[in-house]
Amino acid sequence: MNLISDIKEIKKKISGQILFDEKLSSYSWFNLGGPAKILFKPKNLNDLSFFLKEIKGLNNIKVLGAGSNTLIRDGGFNGTIIKFGKSFSHMSLFDENTIIAGASALDKNLSSFALENSLSGFEFLSCIPGTIGGGIRMNSGCYGEEISKILISVQAMDFNGKVRVIYSSDIKFSYRGCNLDDNLIFISATFRGQKDNKEKIKNKIENLINKKKKDQPSQIKTCGSTFKNPKNYKAWELIKNSGCDGMNFGDAYISEKHCNFFVNKGKARSQDLENLIHEVKNKVFNKTGVSLELELQIIGEK
Ligand SMILES: Cc1cc2nc3c(=O)[nH]c(=O)nc-3n(C[C@H](O)[C@H](O)[C@H](O)COP(=O)(O)OP(=O)(O)OC[C@H]3O[C@@H](n4cnc5c(N)ncnc54)[C@H](O)[C@@H]3O)c2cc1C
Repeated sequence: MNLISDIKEIKKKISGQILFDEKLSSYSWFNLGGPAKILFKPKNLNDLSFFLKEIKGLNNIKVLGAGSNTLIRDGGFNGTIIKFGKSFSHMSLFDENTIIAGASALDKNLSSFALENSLSGFEFLSCIPGTIGGGIRMNSGCYGEEISKILISVQAMDFNGKVRVIYSSDIKFSYRGCNLDDNLIFISATFRGQKDNKEKIKNKIENLINKKKKDQPSQIKTCGSTFKNPKNYKAWELIKNSGCDGMNFGDAYISEKHCNFFVNKGKARSQDLENLIHEVKNKVFNKTGVSLELELQIIGEK
């Protein structure tokens, strides 16, 4: 298969966008990353399934949500990046407790939609800058809540273009992860909340947002927590106590406000971030014996 010429043929038959060698830096919160060989922005499910069936066998495929948890390497991604646009960000009430949302709906928009419909359980999502798709893959959460607690089912397309419904009860969720196959592209999800007083839900959201603003930095180029909290420890504390605060590689720094948030202060390369990650991991291990595990997803070529 001559990939590029075949994809040029596919491009003529779909209504979404296919871009070649598109720089990915604007697709990640770090504002870093080389180009994607192919960047596919499907317009609808038909596009997505057609594309996947046509490129059958090629499985170097990765979906990007808001890119708020993904470091893309300087060498870019030597495969296909799928990025959903507005047509996958729908949200609607199915019955009085149930919401169906598209994979690219932002977490905070789902939280607002739940508030509008007096549904509680979604408040924490107002503090997470990702999409529903990324949230399910990462089992994202904060302040004692996680997305798995409100998820009923996820609708996903496999790399053969087939759609399946997977019930939450059949998924093994863990802290910042789940056992869903990497070859599943989440297209939408069904959530259930509890009817509650609107004012109470609104206050809860405001309190969580204020707490988050107090605890964590904002308005910076970061992907949030770099490492998972190991059992019985806080990653930021281990990093601080190992003497890593203030460390940097080039323009890749550790946030002054939160040691587990790494930041691109302007001209960092992805490699600088990776060097910083490596160095911090080593220092923490040497000092404490604890091996930190990445929460951040790293994709692409060096
Ligand atoms: C300032 C800041 C604060 C943060 N605070 C929190 C927090 O409190 N709690 C928390 O858990 N996280 C937090 N994060 C991390 C991040 O926002 C979450 O992990 C978020 O859920 C990632 O969603 P995303 O759409 O940006 O995913 P991406 O970074 O785009 O992708 C993450 C992973 O999900 C996969 N993925 C994305 N969409 C799909 C899809 N449709 N189908 C299949 N796989 C998909 C990607 O392939 C990748 O493996 C924070 C990040 C920032 C920048």
